[in-house]
Amino acid sequence: MRKVVKFGGSSLASAEQFKKVGDIIRADKERKFVVPSAPGKRNPDDTKVTDMLYACYALAEEGKDFKDELKAIGERYREIIDGLGLTLSLEEEFKTIAQNFKAKAGDNYAASRGEYLNGIVMANYLGYEFIDAAEVVLFDRNGEFDAETTNRKLRERLENVETAVIPGFYGACEDGTVKTFSRGGSDITGSIVARAVKANVYENWTDVSGFLIADPRIIYKPEGIETITYKELRELSYMGATVLHEDAIFPVRREGIPINIRNTNAPEDNGTWIVESTCQKPKYVITGIAGKRGFCSVNIDKDMMNSEIGFGRKVLQAFEENGISFEHVPSGIDTMTVFVHQDEFMHKEQQVVSAIHRLAEPDHIEIEGDLALIAVVGRGMKSTRGTAGRIFSALAHANVNVKMIDQGSSELNIIIGVANSDFESAIKAIYDIFVRIQI
Ligand code: ASP
Repeated sequence: MRKVVKFGGSSLASAEQFKKVGDIIRADKERKFVVPSAPGKRNPDDTKVTDMLYACYALAEEGKDFKDELKAIGERYREIIDGLGLTLSLEEEFKTIAQNFKAKAGDNYAASRGEYLNGIVMANYLGYEFIDAAEVVLFDRNGEFDAETTNRKLRERLENVETAVIPGFYGACEDGTVKTFSRGGSDITGSIVARAVKANVYENWTDVSGFLIADPRIIYKPEGIETITYKELRELSYMGATVLHEDAIFPVRREGIPINIRNTNAPEDNGTWIVESTCQKPKYVITGIAGKRGFCSVNIDKDMMNSEIGFGRKVLQAFEENGISFEHVPSGIDTMTVFVHQDEFMHKEQQVVSAIHRLAEPDHIEIEGDLALIAVVGRGMKSTRGTAGRIFSALAHANVNVKMIDQGSSELNIIIGVANSDFESAIKAIYDIFVRIQI
């Protein structure tokens, strides 16, 4: 039995936090492989080490002096090392970093040093082996993550290793150039390691006790989600639920390894379990609600559209030609609506409209901006009648006008389009009807 444990930046922001992490790891012998992030914020006004590194490297890139900035980063680690009573020195490491910054090693290299150094500190603190992610997490020639080579390399490397620390967030290309994932990418590294060692569970330790049914900035003290499937999570993260990096589920999903989101500051909480499938009945019909503002709808009318073969393709081609991806395409008999991100679309609006006219010859096009999309997600919806009905009546009671509704054929989610200004009242109304007032 082995567990891979990933700790986020806030869990490793100070020596005090490191000690909590040490206690958590030592409390369970199965916690054999540790993936740390870089030190995060110690308080709301603090700066993450990753951001300090980006800023410091920006100076180096411009040929400016970056000594003080690098020193401040060194101080963050010194504070942790001293607070833990370790005898470790990172002096040589910082000399190398300064040289590489001067040689313009790139911002990926710069940012990755946060995790790299934290990995060294963590391995020293725990007495675990340190494995540089640049040796085992690989990217191909085009800079894409190479999942299969990485899996093979990592599996071989860890085969006879009892306990190890592998820093998150980065790897390297074939030529050795360091490359990072997108921000928050240590979650992905944890998942990659869990897959390689075929872990029983991938524990992802953060500063909240798992996923909440809805955004706490909108709903006062929303309930937590005990169990959620990979598919449900994908829908929710896509729509803005941000506890876990949205790509982190892919590696573990291949092996059916569950992810357990846990809270470093409340280790007694069970957190959220993310699983492939479960017979556990969800507590409520819906598992979660998430949404985003800032969409635009492009409504295209054409008589007899339903019998014109290729109409949809031509319309979408107009978006493709202008490099705009679409979110949803609900359609009627003589209408088709394309939802796009307003900020992406705004500058190209008239080009897209003329391309649609040229390619699809519609009767009429109408654009509406300032819309929000809300995803109501739940595996429980499949077996429950009247879910859409309940959503509609709740929204009607809350005086929210529904502009669009789109139910995926999997019956896993219902997407609702409302005006940006109705976004919060719509989420409150949906939360209340399913969670607070259960009929
Ligand atoms: N340290 C990186 C960031 O701040 C990666 C991570 O924390 O996962 O985005």
